[in-house]
Amino acid sequence: MTVIEVKNLRKRYGSTVAVRDVSFTVERGEIFGILGPNGAGKTTTVECIAGLRTPDAGSVTVLGRSPHDHELRRLVGVQLQESQLPEKMSVREALELYSAFYPDPVDWRALARELGLGEKLGTRYAKLSGGQKQRLSIALALIGDPEVAVLDELTTGLDPQARRDTWGLIEQIRDRGVTILLVTHFMEEAERLCDRLAVIDAGAVAALDTPTGLIAGLETEQRLRFRPSKPLDDGLLTSLPEVLRVKHHGGQLEVVGTGNLLHAVTSVLATNQIIAAELRVEQATLDDAFVRLTGHSEETRPTTPTAAADPNEGLS
Ligand code: ADP
Repeated sequence: MTVIEVKNLRKRYGSTVAVRDVSFTVERGEIFGILGPNGAGKTTTVECIAGLRTPDAGSVTVLGRSPHDHELRRLVGVQLQESQLPEKMSVREALELYSAFYPDPVDWRALARELGLGEKLGTRYAKLSGGQKQRLSIALALIGDPEVAVLDELTTGLDPQARRDTWGLIEQIRDRGVTILLVTHFMEEAERLCDRLAVIDAGAVAALDTPTGLIAGLETEQRLRFRPSKPLDDGLLTSLPEVLRVKHHGGQLEVVGTGNLLHAVTSVLATNQIIAAELRVEQATLDDAFVRLTGHSEETRPTTPTAAADPNEGLS
């Protein structure tokens, strides 16, 4: 079942076209990623989905409704970047306040425990670590017991361990049956978490596929390096259709090729009773796909603490 449908979305800010033409659908139970360089139009797209901005053209439906439908406030949990809670507000106060926004909130104490904030209820927002602030912002996005969670740049500014912990949490949320729309510019995050991805560049969808599909679509060269256990005739390898070239680096061989290169080369080696010591495989990554699609390398934003947006506050 389709949970989010975006069709030919367009949004301008004055003379800046932030979103030119974006279409995609998100199915129930998916973790769907929106990936793209800074300024690509990702946040504007999710703000239109969250009902915080009104598109100039195209259409957006969430659970079959207009994003401005009041019912959706309850069904969609939104965590947007660059929104902050008052410094002096405690975790308990924030959870109580947000609970009051919803007709049928989850038990916030249980949610806080589940997100590892059970011991932090009395702590003021300003005193939380980056990871704890993120956990709180996730808690606030989930407090209304939503069917859909929209998470924007969730792990920006977190250290690698806190980022990995957050990935675990996102998977737990999906396992509870929540459909997740995730904006990210971290390739590793997209590759690890997302079932499907839309790569957005300059306000349009440059590609839409599974992470593996995006990488496979590249047909880039792969590289194997190994030390053969005995000398080997290059011709054995260069005669393989998968092999483009073979180079020697001292006793080490470098084999460049395409397709199922690893299988082709190791089969020939096995037939000739050669062992490949120190075998290393360098394959294309989502990062390569991203660079190919957008012409940009992965960029990092300035780090900003994030918290859940006040669901009662619209932008435009
Ligand atoms: P992303 O999330 O991919 O970084 P955004 O949707 O934030 O992209 O921005 C897309 C483009 O729209 C950028 O050029 C950005 O500078 C511009 N933009 C975003 N928000 C506003 C705004 N409120 N007013 C004017 N321009 C904006």
